[in-house]
Amino acid sequence: ADWAAAVAAVRALPADGRVLLICHVNPDGDALGSMLGCALGLRRMGLRQLQATFPGPPGVAEPFRGLPGLDLLVPAADAWTDPDLVLCFDAASVSRIGDLADRLDRAGEVVVLDHHASNTRFGRIHLVDPFAAATSVVVEGLLDRLDVPLDREIAECLYVALTTDTGSFRFAMTTPAVHEMAARMLATGLRPEEISRRVFDTRPFGAVRLYGDVLGRAELEPEAAGGLGLVWTYATLDDLARHGQPAYVLEALIDSVRCTAEADVSCVLKQVAESEWAVSMRSKGPVDVSRVAVALGGGGHRLAAGFTGRGSANDIIAAIRTELDRVLAEPE
Ligand code: 5GP
Ligand code: MN
Ligand code: MN
Repeated sequence: ADWAAAVAAVRALPADGRVLLICHVNPDGDALGSMLGCALGLRRMGLRQLQATFPGPPGVAEPFRGLPGLDLLVPAADAWTDPDLVLCFDAASVSRIGDLADRLDRAGEVVVLDHHASNTRFGRIHLVDPFAAATSVVVEGLLDRLDVPLDREIAECLYVALTTDTGSFRFAMTTPAVHEMAARMLATGLRPEEISRRVFDTRPFGAVRLYGDVLGRAELEPEAAGGLGLVWTYATLDDLARHGQPAYVLEALIDSVRCTAEADVSCVLKQVAESEWAVSMRSKGPVDVSRVAVALGGGGHRLAAGFTGRGSANDIIAAIRTELDRVLAEPE
């Protein structure tokens, strides 16, 4: 990682230098937490002109409405077109920042902070660590090198990011260093039970009923591809409308589906338009689902990946079976 160049780029800014922070579309806890935690750190350094943004509709989903630093968010359309510095968070490729990609060409300097192995090395200065459990690990490394002391607000943002991407310290990336980072965040006095309840464990009753419908139609294919078990389900726009729910309530659906003991791979298809679906995939290890996702136009990590699929739900599952077969037959 190019720490020296990133530190120099931040230190070179005057107090009124304009810093635009960008995270990926449909931001999750790591994208928002990393971006806002970094923004609050820069504010502590005395930088006054800060904007945080992401492509697509403005506003964050209910679970993230308690995050510190939300006052720094601006709609993508209002983001400076020629900032002095752009910082980009948790995006493996420019496609993940949509219409905001043009800001990279016109910025004085661009630092990319990320942890995807598939990062395409867009931008100029790269703080990309594929061994980091979350982008917030990279953010903590940068703030530390900038001598920004952690405060409770910065820590809350980075903690939300860390718990999101490690599945609350359950996933493979949960190293001793991850717990050491969590300890530093907890030492600022944050309340883990309040944060977890707000971010992970609160959903409207309508969403509980919606999960009932969607989980009730899950399919198990014990030998879907190469002897691997596949479990999958889908949620339509009509499901959301019938239960009066916004799309974000489906983000955690994959966590209920991937519990299936008989399945090595799990998929959830979330309808976003007539024949367009946001697809989430998880693997228990025997196959790298990011290779499936990349083949189908998306990306992600070995055990958690996704893509946008077109056609019917059955078309997309058929395409996934085909790619699973191919990936299993080809050496890594
Ligand atoms: P989730 O299933 O939680 O939405 O996404 C899991 C991971 O897959 C994310 O961390 C992200 O890296 C990747 N991912 C999900 N959807 C997409 C997509 O449409 N395009 C790309 N490139 N990656 C995605
Ligand atoms: Mn993310
Ligand atoms: Mn991440």
